[in-house]
Amino acid sequence: MVGTPAINANPQSDLRSVALLAWYDRHRRILPWRALPGERMEPYRVWLSEIMLQQTTVETVKPYFARFLAAWPDITALAAADDQALLAAWAGLGYYARARNMIACARHVVGTLGGVFPDTEEGLRALPGVGAYTAAAIAAIAFDRPAVVIDGNIERVITRLGAIATPVPAARPEIRAALEPMVPSARPGDFAQALMDLGAGVCTPRNPDCLICPLQPFCAAAKAGTATAYPVKAAKKAKPVRFGTAYVVHDGAGRILLRTRPGKGLLAGMTEVPNSGWSEGEAPAAAPPLKADWLVLNAPVVHVFTHFELRLTVHTATMPGPVPAPEDMRWVAIADLDSEPLPTLFRKVIAAAD
Ligand code: SF4
Repeated sequence: MVGTPAINANPQSDLRSVALLAWYDRHRRILPWRALPGERMEPYRVWLSEIMLQQTTVETVKPYFARFLAAWPDITALAAADDQALLAAWAGLGYYARARNMIACARHVVGTLGGVFPDTEEGLRALPGVGAYTAAAIAAIAFDRPAVVIDGNIERVITRLGAIATPVPAARPEIRAALEPMVPSARPGDFAQALMDLGAGVCTPRNPDCLICPLQPFCAAAKAGTATAYPVKAAKKAKPVRFGTAYVVHDGAGRILLRTRPGKGLLAGMTEVPNSGWSEGEAPAAAPPLKADWLVLNAPVVHVFTHFELRLTVHTATMPGPVPAPEDMRWVAIADLDSEPLPTLFRKVIAAAD
């Protein structure tokens, strides 16, 4: 449950926050979803960017954010979006549940909340697709609430600042306890963004530039010369490997055979080439979608999901003449692939067969 954080009783006495905000005033990043100094933050833009930024880098998100904003300039427009068009616009960003939750959230905000985003962490946390981190980030950035925001960049800065040796993610409560007293009651949104910017540009994973860092006088890791030792990471377990077979078939007239995935589960509702599904050990048995002279590519297409690695063996064929598409499949012109919600995995498969 998300609660209102206890805030430093005398926040302006926290020299770290003062130094950080002064640095932010000079070095803040210009980002398309950010208001310029003195402008009001637009909650729709903050929410859209925070959903897109989950597990995704700023540079990757920028063009998607611009396209979304052009197509759906406000929450009312997004709530009225066609599901398939939105999934197609999202294709390539990954973690597609975010896109489906985004539609559900927009419809909830418009249909139930009169088009107005809640302005508290608790209210935001109740929205579809908004977890504890995202609720805190939106509350701080859009509504200047003194929320404790901890993303990957902030985690790195705070573990270094306090030389927190507990491995992450077990260190989260310690990180929170260390950060909470630093959050100022004035400008908490800028404070959160300042920490994000510091982590992105100064306190970087491999080459922290402690000499220009506004937190250097307060930093235990910098003092000990051990900055890159933090955050300590728990040993990673190897991901299980799943295997499958994918079929890329062209009709000889510039079209490719595709189908739509089921409405539930991984990549729900997205477009795919016919395939066997996947399982550990060996690929499930599956007949090719059409009789043809199939060639098997030497190297499998490898794609890493959050919880497993997938290796798809790709079979490819070109039909000698037009044939009807099998049931639940369709021929789609290669030129029209951009309007299909085709995940990166299947884009890789089609490219490998080219
Ligand atoms: S002094 Fe160095 S290690 Fe410490 S917060 Fe700044 S950049 Fe990171």
